[in-house]
Amino acid sequence: MTRVVALTGTPGVGKTTVAALLSGSPPSEPFRAVEVQDLSQPVHRHCPHGRRTPVTPALVDLPALSREVDRLRRDGRPGTLVIVGHLSHLLPVQEVFLLRASPAAIQRRLAGRGGTERSRRENVESERIDLILQEALDLGRTIYELDTTGRPPRAVANWLKRALKGEVPPRHGQVDWLATHPPRPGLPPRKRPGPSPLQTPKT
Ligand code: ADP
Ligand code: MG
Repeated sequence: MTRVVALTGTPGVGKTTVAALLSGSPPSEPFRAVEVQDLSQPVHRHCPHGRRTPVTPALVDLPALSREVDRLRRDGRPGTLVIVGHLSHLLPVQEVFLLRASPAAIQRRLAGRGGTERSRRENVESERIDLILQEALDLGRTIYELDTTGRPPRAVANWLKRALKGEVPPRHGQVDWLATHPPRPGLPPRKRPGPSPLQTPKT
């Protein structure tokens, strides 16, 4: 059986960057990484008649992806297959490597990327409330969590390699963004506009 694990975290946390640095393990126990979106699966998109580009993001078919992960596990290739993506912890894997970054860092890292302001805000807020950690805990995964804030990608990749080799024990709960990065209070209610300066005051 091939060992299959998940590398997950909020979009912008650095999964793809770190996965690209994952080489350099001994040939007897290589690490391979594959992005969730590159796993073969039917992708359903809402594409109204006459439009060539889908108007909604791909809907992920988790059961189909899970079957694909089971197939990859049974193919028996030596080494470890790392499934990379912010949904990878939902797939049938036991070990989850979870990257974290402060909401401020996520905001910065996503700023240069496409996507809407709303989706960026949603990602920042899901990081703030530990959404992925909670999902992984609910599923009973073994979690290796790392706060990448202020760590260069190579240092994160080294941590990941050591954790994959069993040199770092499972651990989670080191961050509490709600305490250190509380949500900004809402804007004060807008003042009701006063009388227009163009209106002649009543006397
Ligand atoms: P993900 O795959 O988790 O969505 P990416 O790997 O695409 O995230 O990284 C998002 C952005 O953050 C990229 O611009 C990348 O260069 C930057 N980045 C990734 N890791 C780090 C890090 N450890 N420190 C600072 N910036 C990083
Ligand atoms: Mg990515």
